[in-house]
Amino acid sequence: AKSEGKAGYQFFSQEMNQVTMRRVALETGMRQGLARGEFYLYFQPQWDLKTLRLTGAEALLRWHSAEFGMVGPDEFIPIAESCGFIFDLGDLVLREACLHAVAWDGVCPGLKVAVNISGRQFRQPDFLQTVASVIEETGVRPSSLELEFTESVIMERAEKNIDALQALKKMGVRLSIDDFGTGYSSLNYLKHFPIDAIKIDRSFIADLVTDSDDAAIAEAIISMAHSLKLKVIAEGVESDDQLDFLADRRCDEAQGFYFAPPMPGEDFTSYVKRFSGL
Ligand code: C2E
Ligand code: CA
Ligand code: CA
Ligand code: CA
Repeated sequence: AKSEGKAGYQFFSQEMNQVTMRRVALETGMRQGLARGEFYLYFQPQWDLKTLRLTGAEALLRWHSAEFGMVGPDEFIPIAESCGFIFDLGDLVLREACLHAVAWDGVCPGLKVAVNISGRQFRQPDFLQTVASVIEETGVRPSSLELEFTESVIMERAEKNIDALQALKKMGVRLSIDDFGTGYSSLNYLKHFPIDAIKIDRSFIADLVTDSDDAAIAEAIISMAHSLKLKVIAEGVESDDQLDFLADRRCDEAQGFYFAPPMPGEDFTSYVKRFSGL
């Protein structure tokens, strides 16, 4: 048993080593990748379920590495967060997203672009300054920019965050809470935050039609949000059954493969033209 344990440990540490090595390699690769222009944004359309109009898109970061191929944000964002590279990436995302929003404004005025903000990026002392400069430099209409913070990021250091969020609201940007329902926030606590919308996590949407627990949770989130005068966006909508359910419950907006997967900026421009009757 002793030697088995040892072999198990060796196997485990070999695996650990591989994970660590990939991590280190990706970390170096990311820095080179940024210089080589390997990072770019995709955009996923968001639709208003009452007016049946396109409202905008969520910007989702992509990395096509010459060395590693496509690397998903679920893998590289946490690494970028832990090594501090997220500051460079976050700036790129914010700037690029705003530039796209400015371009779409000429095609279909009023579209918004939603940008994911990571915890470390938000806690960076000059984050507010960065947002202000990007707005000024790109000339984006502040109300066209929506910043998404996850529930857990908002809830840790909640008191401090309220000040920062209020400062962002003063600039005129929209604020939303991402992955809602996965964290530990009490619904009641939400009223202290100056936010405009919450996004129901896609894990609740996935089994909406077959799992009565998930259906009850989604319904509760929608009615609670509405009583707090918040908009509700459902993410990960894939079927018309899910869409019917959400529309019946007066969910405000939705995004997901049912409408379209995330797409390159040029494709989204064509999409806008197609669906805004131009
Ligand atoms: P998220 O913010 O929850 O983004 C939604 C994810 O769901 C995206 O994955 C999107 O491609 C995927 N998705 C969209 N529609 C559907 C659907 O109908 N079904 C299913 N199963 N999935 C759908 P993606 O692009 O791989 O991004 C994963 C996560 O990486 C994001 O989750 C977000 O947390 C993070 N991320 C992506 N871009 C950025 C960024 O620019 N900055 C930061 N900080 N995080 C980012
Ligand atoms: Ca998001
Ligand atoms: Ca989400
Ligand atoms: Ca269940």
